[in-house]
Amino acid sequence: MLDRALDAAIATFEAARPHLGPSEMGVDVAAYRDALTLQRFASAHWGGAVKVDIAIRETRTGSCARFAAFMRIPPENGTVRLVLCPQFFSDGADDLRTLTLLHEMVHAVAGPDECQAMAFAARVEQAAMGRFTPVDAYWQANGCTGSGYALP
Ligand SMILES: [Zn+2]
Repeated sequence: MLDRALDAAIATFEAARPHLGPSEMGVDVAAYRDALTLQRFASAHWGGAVKVDIAIRETRTGSCARFAAFMRIPPENGTVRLVLCPQFFSDGADDLRTLTLLHEMVHAVAGPDECQAMAFAARVEQAAMGRFTPVDAYWQANGCTGSGYALP
């Protein structure tokens, strides 16, 4: 299921890529591509080479009580960790999985800004498919209206 979700996220990003500049919403697009497809990237943001480790947690404890997935940043020993929670593996959540991976990889590459991560993921979806997943509630909850980032 994870492999399928990763393949779908990569396919969405690759469909978007011809429409993207070298930097979008402050995200280094080449580093992002490497993080998503190779799970390693050269990071101007963190400095040096960074590996993305993917871990699956079986219980809805800690941050998994609230999230489908989260990224452990900054890097430790050159590694950031993407933790996938039980909610990530819910039945029928293919689109959520794709969006979640597109979103979390922004954190891997560019840091913890929720508005930036939402805006970049929406930009990728829009460029790939001509539409993006509505995130209005989360956008407002994070005070993104005045953030300088914008949805498509
Ligand atoms: Zn986030």
